[in-house]
Amino acid sequence: MSELTQASVRTEVRAWLEDNWDPDASLVEWRTKLADSGWGMPAWPKAWFGRDLPQAFTPVVDEEFALANAVGAAKTGIRLLAAATLLEHGSDEQKATYLRRILTGEDAWCQLFSEPGSGSDLAGATTRADFDGERWIVNGQKVWTTSAHHADFGLLLARTDWDVPKHDGLSYFVLDMRQDAVEVRPLRQMNGHASFNQVFFTDAVIPPENQVSTTGNGWKVAMTTLMHERRGSDALRSFTRAKGLPGRMYEEERQEIETVMEPYKWYPQRAGRVDLVIERAEETGKLSDPAVRQEIARLLTMSRSAEWTARRARAAQQQGRPQGPEGSLGKLAGSNVARQASLVHTMISGADAMLTNADSPRDGVIAEILVSVPATSIAGGTDEIQRNIIAERVLGMPKEPRMDTGPFRDVKRN
Ligand SMILES: Cc1cc2nc3c(=O)[nH]c(=O)nc-3n(C[C@H](O)[C@H](O)[C@H](O)COP(=O)(O)OP(=O)(O)OC[C@H]3O[C@@H](n4cnc5c(N)ncnc54)[C@H](O)[C@@H]3O)c2cc1C
Repeated sequence: MSELTQASVRTEVRAWLEDNWDPDASLVEWRTKLADSGWGMPAWPKAWFGRDLPQAFTPVVDEEFALANAVGAAKTGIRLLAAATLLEHGSDEQKATYLRRILTGEDAWCQLFSEPGSGSDLAGATTRADFDGERWIVNGQKVWTTSAHHADFGLLLARTDWDVPKHDGLSYFVLDMRQDAVEVRPLRQMNGHASFNQVFFTDAVIPPENQVSTTGNGWKVAMTTLMHERRGSDALRSFTRAKGLPGRMYEEERQEIETVMEPYKWYPQRAGRVDLVIERAEETGKLSDPAVRQEIARLLTMSRSAEWTARRARAAQQQGRPQGPEGSLGKLAGSNVARQASLVHTMISGADAMLTNADSPRDGVIAEILVSVPATSIAGGTDEIQRNIIAERVLGMPKEPRMDTGPFRDVKRN
């Protein structure tokens, strides 16, 4: 077998794109081809729509797609957390049922974890799933569920045993969101978007084949989902840069961005838009202000070192080391960067940063940054929770005192 190098992968993917890329095909038709060829997710296993390529080759493949203006697989949002979780823990039947339609974008997913009384304390979930002899019946409520209003399926963490300690009584399921027993109510955020929801279950049904963990082992599976979330696997990947190009595929991708991807359109602002800082400092004349320069330098130092930490984590993963708490380090670094970026944008724009109309800086984007950045410190586990994880699992500090051991039924809760 010829040796695998960046150059050989580049040649192979380029030739494949030359033979196959057709902007006038339908989006689903094209993405089905991507799934079958493995080029949509080259680092995934060959048996499951990938090519078994080391992760380090993915950027080369992405670059070739960008050069050809070719649309990629649907690798955005929570559907990617679903894919990562099913690849690791799902049955072959579940992988066969769901993975292809994740990559084609035909199915959208949501993550049904947080509840009104359990966000940080996720293991305290009280949404219940009871087996009636034939299927699981779900009752309870979730909250902050991003994209539930578009979702076909949800990753559900539910309590299946109340008589064991809280972490041991949870199970993990795929729930069909398109049933009357699931009611989705949107919530409005302070940045004006309504990307997340309350979700109520009244005797919602899950067939046994949709159980992902064994009964009582849901916590372990949920940790896989969360580790991928903290590593930013669900981040908004760039779409094709071919805005405005003619072709059925570009039109269908545009429609997808406007509908299913709509909940994520403020995510770049939530990360602080470090990319805008120098431009904004130049256009406002603040680049020569020593106080602003100092804070910009601090921001870029934090941002670069966060990027290097993320690369180190990826390298460790490529060498086959299991995922560790580096996701928590990365997530915390991302929060610090976003907060510093928000401070710098405020220093640069001054009171104008509060304007949101068409005359405001960058059409309201700066204001949107200021009211979106706080979400970075909450989503996927708060900063305080990441610090607890780092303290206990990296630094080996004593664990927090626990008041919640023993059967969950007897634990005092909200
Ligand atoms: C943009 C966004 C999208 C989200 N999307 C989803 C989604 O799709 N699906 C989903 O299930 N959830 C989602 N969430 C919810 C998110 O996971 C929770 O908000 C988060 O885990 C915190 O839980 P909570 O809101 O219940 O806060 P709480 O747990 O009530 O925390 C309140 C405060 O207490 C602090 N605190 C709590 N426990 C401790 C402790 N042990 N030590 C120190 N401090 C502590 C917290 O850090 C926080 O400051 C989303 C949130 C955001 C902001």
